[in-house]
Amino acid sequence: MKTLFENALLQLKRAVAVQSFDPAFIVRLSFPHREIRGHIPLLRDDGTLQMVEYYRVQHNNWRGPYKGGIRFHEQTDIEEVKALAFWMTLKCAVADLPMGGGKGGATINPKEFSSGELERLSRAWMRALVDVVGPDKDVPAPDVNTTPQIMAWMADEYATITGDRSGAVITGKPVEHGGSLGRDRATARGGFEVFEALRESLELPQRCRLVIQGFGNAGEHAAEFFFHAGHQIVGVSDSKGAVVNPDGFDIAALSAHKHQTGSVAGFAGGKDFVGSILEVENEVLVPAALENQITKENVSRLKTKIILELANGPTTPEADDELFVAGVPVIPDILANSGGVTVSAYEWEQNKKGEHWSEADVVEKLKKTIQIQAQAIFERSQILKTDLRRAAFVIALERLEQASPF
Ligand code: NAD
Repeated sequence: MKTLFENALLQLKRAVAVQSFDPAFIVRLSFPHREIRGHIPLLRDDGTLQMVEYYRVQHNNWRGPYKGGIRFHEQTDIEEVKALAFWMTLKCAVADLPMGGGKGGATINPKEFSSGELERLSRAWMRALVDVVGPDKDVPAPDVNTTPQIMAWMADEYATITGDRSGAVITGKPVEHGGSLGRDRATARGGFEVFEALRESLELPQRCRLVIQGFGNAGEHAAEFFFHAGHQIVGVSDSKGAVVNPDGFDIAALSAHKHQTGSVAGFAGGKDFVGSILEVENEVLVPAALENQITKENVSRLKTKIILELANGPTTPEADDELFVAGVPVIPDILANSGGVTVSAYEWEQNKKGEHWSEADVVEKLKKTIQIQAQAIFERSQILKTDLRRAAFVIALERLEQASPF
């Protein structure tokens, strides 16, 4: 099986097959500027010592400081972080932000850690990287299993060491610690706005049935936005189980159940589902969990009209090829989930200028940006007679080529 980074490079290869670029420029983009990995000695509550592997990959900074989240997950490794950093470079270019691409992580299952252990780990992560991050160097953010509280600990550790209390070193902080209003829902809102911008062009009905894989920051908030716009959420899953209801869920009740019990499974407003939630019939399939979910093995069993990628890298290049032939559009991650990094960039800008923007201003600005980029990518896909991912890559590559110092 290919690594995630190999898949990311295959996507790049697919894109340059529909529009040519200077080969030397493409080679440069195929290598991260810097890969950092090491081990944090973490003292567990029971007195034992655990050596935790941590990472930061700084992929590219031609357009601005490296930018990208930190993932705490037991399967995170350097190849995954490299791919995620590469996608951040492309995503920031798609969103036309003055930022480059980076990503970080640590190989742990945070659910096995107490709050004190997580705080010690988060502060140690920042201490290990304090020389290479900073408001004008590299600006991390949350990703899978990292929370606003974790960002606040990291920001505080950075401020304690450097004296810089602007908060601009890291985004996704709690609002009372310099976070931006609207950041918590920004990824989902962006996904919904992309869908709205492209719904008619993609010939989708006004009322769609959605299946959402993953019910965390991205998936749960997406369910809320789509539900309130009149769509039906007919299937959801998380790491512990799945639930379906062909008539659509009451999302507030489903969220309450998830927060009380820790899973969507067992929700009385639906039926527990055994099997792959991705194969439940719908009009809009939303992978919002982890990568490599839609592959050449299961792609022929999907019963959907479009895929809206809130997760990073959920579709493999082989599955992309089959979906393109089958006429199922994939709204690619670097567009569909770009709302998160866009509002992160707004947070960074507010911290740097010492400003506080209203939620209405943040939402309005995000909506406008998403509409412009979604339309541009759709039009380019028509011109190039290609899929939305290749079109998004081509637009990002053009912007990166302009910023390239070579
Ligand atoms: P999260 O930790 O808040 O939620 C992840 C969800 O996925 C949880 O509900 C978890 O139970 C579920 N999950 C894990 N394994 C699963 C499996 N095998 N089957 C079904 N569900 C599973 O993480 P998040 O921030 O929502 O991130 C989800 C995806 O969205 C990731 O790919 C992330 O990189 C991407 N993303 C997130 C943001 C953001 O702002 N949070 C921004 C851009 C992209």
